[in-house]
Amino acid sequence: MKISMKYILSTITLIFLSCSGESDVHSVIKEDQETVKEETIEREGLQTQGVEIIVLGEAQDAGAPQLYCEEKCCIRLRDNNDRKLVSCIGVKDLDNSEYYLFDATPDMDEQLEHFCEKGSLDGIFLTHAHIGHYTGLMYLGREAHSAEMVPVFAMPKMAEFLRKNGPWSLLVENGNIDLVEVENEGEVQLNSQLLVKPFLVPHRDEFSETVGYKIIGPKKTALFIPDIDKWDEWEKDIKREINEVDIALIDATFYDEHELKGRDMSEIPHPFVVETMKLFQEESEELKNKVYFIHINHSNPILDEDSEEAQQVISNGFNIAYEGTRIAL
Ligand SMILES: [Zn+2]
Ligand SMILES: [Zn+2]
Ligand SMILES: [Zn+2]
Repeated sequence: MKISMKYILSTITLIFLSCSGESDVHSVIKEDQETVKEETIEREGLQTQGVEIIVLGEAQDAGAPQLYCEEKCCIRLRDNNDRKLVSCIGVKDLDNSEYYLFDATPDMDEQLEHFCEKGSLDGIFLTHAHIGHYTGLMYLGREAHSAEMVPVFAMPKMAEFLRKNGPWSLLVENGNIDLVEVENEGEVQLNSQLLVKPFLVPHRDEFSETVGYKIIGPKKTALFIPDIDKWDEWEKDIKREINEVDIALIDATFYDEHELKGRDMSEIPHPFVVETMKLFQEESEELKNKVYFIHINHSNPILDEDSEEAQQVISNGFNIAYEGTRIAL
């Protein structure tokens, strides 16, 4: 209430300025806005410098509640008028005022609105061509806010898919996005303190490759692997990979093998949360604490932070990347 009043005051001052031409009113507005910013920072304990990861959504591709799901997972959400946004992280470089998204979800309009101002998005890194990971690009087109050359970092097949298929091809032709091809294990130096490295992971690659990203900030390094089939199908050893980083946001699509009634779960393989926890069982507390589970299916009980399963994950020493989670990088 206090904050919106300040904005109203600023607006009134602005109107006054346009009529009177007083030159010092600008600084009054600026001071007002800075006080608001400071108050917000104080209230939310936000970082004011460096780089941070902000979790903008935690759900699997189709979000939650999921269409036509009549199980208690989604009934509970509908009853509470609650909605879990699709898995996405934002990386905010406060020193350079740069903003990057990892994945363009169908909830990207809402996620961007909370993340950065119009025209300030510096790039989107795509993991693959499944609906939860790229369809948000539609919000950059002419039907939406008609962005100008937002860099979209994608692997060669993913880039080709966008270039060759409508409606995505229009975004390229109209210059709403600027496709930047990345390569497996290649380096994308975003600025003096932020480096991004894509790496291939096994997944159902119908239209594109699937990659995870290593995000190297000034103080810490993060892994982002929202989708992968099974850890043992990957040529790399997940334990070793996590050992080498500080933060690991990893696939938590399903909790265990009993989750999807009436569907063959071998057709949609993912490392179950229970499998991942078992794999790290003997590892140090420090290693377990690096893990943040993300990309959580509506059927996975840990989507509800009050569930027994979510509590179990936490008491085992792991974290869950709920929307709003902030991690310094
Ligand atoms: Zn997905
Ligand atoms: Zn459900
Ligand atoms: Zn996928």
